[in-house]
Amino acid sequence: MKRESYTKIVATIGPASSDHKTIRALFRAGVDVFRLNFSHGTHEDHAARHALIRQIEEEEGRPIGILADMQGPKLRIGTFANGKETLKRGQTIELHLEKFVGDAGKVSLPHKEIFAAVRPGEDLLINDGRLRLRVESNNGKVISAKAVNGGEISDRKGVNVPGTVLPINILTQKDRADLEFAVSLGVEWIALSFVQTPDDIHKARHLVRGRSRILAKLEKPSAIENLNGIIGLADAVMVARGDLGVEMPAEIVPQIQKRIIAACRKEGKPVIVATQMLESMISEPVATRAEASDVANAVYAGADAVMLSAETASGKYPIEAVRMMDRIIAATERDPDFDSVLHAVSLPIDETDSDAIASAACDVARNRNCAAISTFTKTGSTVRRVSRLRTLVPVLGLTPEVTVARQLCLAWGVHSVRTRDDVESFSDMVGKSTRIARREKLARNGDRVVITAGVPFGTAGTTNILRVAVVGEHEHPEDRASLA
Ligand code: PGA
Ligand code: MN
Repeated sequence: MKRESYTKIVATIGPASSDHKTIRALFRAGVDVFRLNFSHGTHEDHAARHALIRQIEEEEGRPIGILADMQGPKLRIGTFANGKETLKRGQTIELHLEKFVGDAGKVSLPHKEIFAAVRPGEDLLINDGRLRLRVESNNGKVISAKAVNGGEISDRKGVNVPGTVLPINILTQKDRADLEFAVSLGVEWIALSFVQTPDDIHKARHLVRGRSRILAKLEKPSAIENLNGIIGLADAVMVARGDLGVEMPAEIVPQIQKRIIAACRKEGKPVIVATQMLESMISEPVATRAEASDVANAVYAGADAVMLSAETASGKYPIEAVRMMDRIIAATERDPDFDSVLHAVSLPIDETDSDAIASAACDVARNRNCAAISTFTKTGSTVRRVSRLRTLVPVLGLTPEVTVARQLCLAWGVHSVRTRDDVESFSDMVGKSTRIARREKLARNGDRVVITAGVPFGTAGTTNILRVAVVGEHEHPEDRASLA
């Protein structure tokens, strides 16, 4: 199935969307990558969903990406004898490393990393930031803190520590087990929550051992401080606005989003904008104007993908939400000003053959009105370099590696196809490009396509060829007959 848009859609699978019919409908409505959220559900749930997606991929004949999202070190307070307490503004509460049942004056906080790191004057945010506690003292076992604002505090609410780099392993024991399980299923992407430093990516890579690609979720102030280092090491990035908006003032999340997207586009790393994009569609069949504007804004900024969370995982209108998102993307990309808005970001071209060819291919595609840019790739790298330039011409990413074809589902403007085998010759290169472009309905006979590849054929890292071909010409007659 050919997509009409360049910006990709990631949808989270959950209780509202775990049967064959719904997942297939979500795919047909425009989903490119499915997200399995390991904060919820059992391994059996995820294995069943993974198997269904792979079955649908086979039935629909298109690669589908799967992203396994690790919960990460989500910190929580303990419980209260009464289940909850109400704190008045200015009231003091003690947080104890020790485990016990709390009351209005004290509660357990069984995370030694917090006691190792926080200092007087720093804030602890409880329950998605609804309650802010300012630390007055910390002796390593007891933190005394004052409520900056009043509010309710109740059993096992989440704790965010925005001001501090916690000495915490971003992969908990649960995450390590989940990661190993997800990798064994064969997912292409592992998403890491609460990344703080580039070293976190190093550590995760050590565990993943090349079996899938790593996406860093940016949702901590320390990740924003280390932005370039993290983007440099990660394979892709998510603007995780849910936790980011708790850890930092909500009003600066929009500018951080813009900054992250621009930095990722420079590096050629796929970037997803996530959380609350069509939030009201969890319970309503239509989106608000503000939500439509939010999705469009991410598209104008040149994000590779926009994401749905509860809207598709547990909402009442999962399919409608994808359709709505797809319509907003399509309408935005049809804006006559889209091209110029998109290219307000300037992109330096690396001094490599591959980047020079990618850039030249985009110029040729524009100037010669080509129907597609056909790119042969072993690792996906050249395709990402072409995608990075955001040329309004579909990129046909041809690869014999099924994993690479699936990974490329996240990349802006890329229509990936797994080829049966490597290219063997120039005529094979032209033949494959033009036949597949026609079969995938990207081009018709008489249309031009621009082709990039590497000679010697079939070796990684050698992109050095640019060729213009006309669909329907230079093809062996038998090829034309069999695939016309
Ligand atoms: P989550 O991540 O949905 O796993 O929390 C996304 C976010 O925080 O925005
Ligand atoms: Mn999060």
